[in-house]
Amino acid sequence: MNIHEYQAKQTLKKYGVAIQEGIVADTPDKAVDAAKELKEQTGTGWWVVKAQIHAGGRGKGGGVKLAKSLDEVKELSNKILGMQLVTPQTGPEGKKVHKVLIAQDVYYPGESETSEFYISVLLDRATSRNMIMYSTEGGMDIEEVAEKTPNLIFKEEVDPKIGLQGFQARKIAFNLGLSGKAFKEMVKFVMALYKAYDETDSAMFEINPVLKTSDDKIIAVDAKVNLDDNALYRHKDLALMRDINEEDPTEVEAGESNLNYVKLDGNVGCMVNGAGLAMATMDMIKLSGGEPANFLDVGGAANAQTVEAGFRIIMKDPNVKAILINVFGGIVRCDRVAKGVVEAYKNIGNINIPIIVRLQGTNAEEAKKVIDESGLKVVSAILLKDAAEKVKEALA
Ligand code: GDP
Ligand code: MN
Repeated sequence: MNIHEYQAKQTLKKYGVAIQEGIVADTPDKAVDAAKELKEQTGTGWWVVKAQIHAGGRGKGGGVKLAKSLDEVKELSNKILGMQLVTPQTGPEGKKVHKVLIAQDVYYPGESETSEFYISVLLDRATSRNMIMYSTEGGMDIEEVAEKTPNLIFKEEVDPKIGLQGFQARKIAFNLGLSGKAFKEMVKFVMALYKAYDETDSAMFEINPVLKTSDDKIIAVDAKVNLDDNALYRHKDLALMRDINEEDPTEVEAGESNLNYVKLDGNVGCMVNGAGLAMATMDMIKLSGGEPANFLDVGGAANAQTVEAGFRIIMKDPNVKAILINVFGGIVRCDRVAKGVVEAYKNIGNINIPIIVRLQGTNAEEAKKVIDESGLKVVSAILLKDAAEKVKEALA
């Protein structure tokens, strides 16, 4: 699960990570109040208005703007709130902005220069260990840095038995070219950041940029956090940070029916039991000349209700030109699933696209008979190859 920048920063702060302070608002008037309050708290005279959506690259899309007066705070908030923000990560349709974070300006002039770094903590699946990835090239697109100047990206692996060690944090601060107060602040920053990542059971914490201010403070200016869904039951406070506005509505609905659904761009809807078989089915759809419209794993219990819920969800997508149901009857009996399909088909009514059902395993023959004798426009198959041919015919 992803959370917003303002929520991620609150979480970081709880663990002692220094952040760019800010207050969230959902109307221009509240944004002005937030700016006033922030001025009292931090003494800042300038503010940054930051769109809160679950996507990076907001600066590039016009979702992060500097305001030099309360009037500008109001004007910019008015413009950003409600806008359809398009960034390199949102896709061309963009995302609607419901909230802005009014943050203190931290790029103020001073004794020394400001510098922007990149620091993230994530699980390295290759080594099965947590890893801190960092770079002197912060503030910009890290994928681009990785591609053009991979030598400027450093990695520090954490031994799970002993956790992050002080010497490792000092090595990071050193490699980032810091000294004096900034060095000490960075060590503190890295230790606290790792603790936050570890104790929240996160999958990723990405801070880009980490800023060295002109008075040598080290603070998180941005924060992208991905929490591990499987650990959310241990973090009720974090689970409450979920923002359904940011999720695909069909995926939310599927989740409520316990279906594992991911929307894709193709024309063949598919409903499968088991994630592995679902992947294989998607490959097969491609081989037969179609493109999968979704990934849908109905899980172990493929019954009339789940099949019906699956049908309804797939059919919300206007691009779907055919549906392939591919169920392997191991624990579930194919004839039961077949009856479920027929029942769901009748309940929904008005299905105008071809449906190909491939049932293999326990009672497959009986299942085929149920489908064939239903009188519905449902084509049955037992062999996968057969089903693929029928999908091809349906698309022709
Ligand atoms: P992203 O574009 O979604 O990654 O959003 P960020 O939070 O990283 O902000 C984008 C950029 O806005 C940063 O890289 C900074 O250059 C700039 N920015 C953020 N905070 C401030 C600030 O306090 N003052 C100024 N002048 N610029 C800021
Ligand atoms: Mn950023």
